[in-house]
Amino acid sequence: METSLNPTTLLIEQSGAVRRIWLNREAMRNAQNQLLLDELDAALTAAGQDEATKVLVLAAKGKHFSAGHDLKEAQEKRSHFSVEERWAYEEQRYFGYCMKLWDFPKPTVAQVQGACVAAGFMLANMCDLVVTSEDAFFSDPVTHTLGAASVEVLIHPWVMGLRQAKGFLFLGERMSAQRAYEIGMVNKVVPSGTLDEETMVVAQRIAMAPPFAMRALKKSLNRSVDVQGMRQALSAHFDLHQLSHVSSEFQSARDAGLASAIQKGASHGGKA
Ligand code: ZN
Repeated sequence: METSLNPTTLLIEQSGAVRRIWLNREAMRNAQNQLLLDELDAALTAAGQDEATKVLVLAAKGKHFSAGHDLKEAQEKRSHFSVEERWAYEEQRYFGYCMKLWDFPKPTVAQVQGACVAAGFMLANMCDLVVTSEDAFFSDPVTHTLGAASVEVLIHPWVMGLRQAKGFLFLGERMSAQRAYEIGMVNKVVPSGTLDEETMVVAQRIAMAPPFAMRALKKSLNRSVDVQGMRQALSAHFDLHQLSHVSSEFQSARDAGLASAIQKGASHGGKA
């Protein structure tokens, strides 16, 4: 695993008490490959341990936050994984890394522009607050395009509400930043040219609070959904998601190949 000291898929920026981690695979629409996920995990560990850092911003270079997992790499390296291999891989890198971000001891802010699709949606929504530019859009077409039961962490109903999550996932269509704001999934929508600075204003404001009190507050807020069973529901979905990977529906999507999935995905709002 690469260390966070010299990541090749991320940029790390420190502005006072705010650390901003940028996904930096712009040419790939910030598709999350294995290296990016491992480097992001290492960067999270480092940011959590850094005493000078009080708030974390998760951002992305280029026009799009993230098109999701890197399906090209997945097709090449993991399309014929056994049940055991896929379980181990996805439990560590997709589920585990996401939950680590959810449980990150300091406040986190997602800074989202352009496409925020599938695993990009999953990643951004593990953050405490979400700030988007006007051009941002969300989608999770995975069930339609890949024949898998959504993504690995079914955070959707917890951040959108059940009715909206069902519509979003069953239809597999795009949701605009403005609509995401109206349903309460996004904290703030700002003009496109101002996203970098507007997100930093939010983060710096949070960073003014005493850090231990903020840490306790975040833990209590997260526990308010834990007592409703969020963690168990997410774990249960992960298990069913794994089952969906060995269904004939998923196998035929896999055998049809990446290009077909992406093409289908384009009509549903982007790559999975
Ligand atoms: Zn999966």
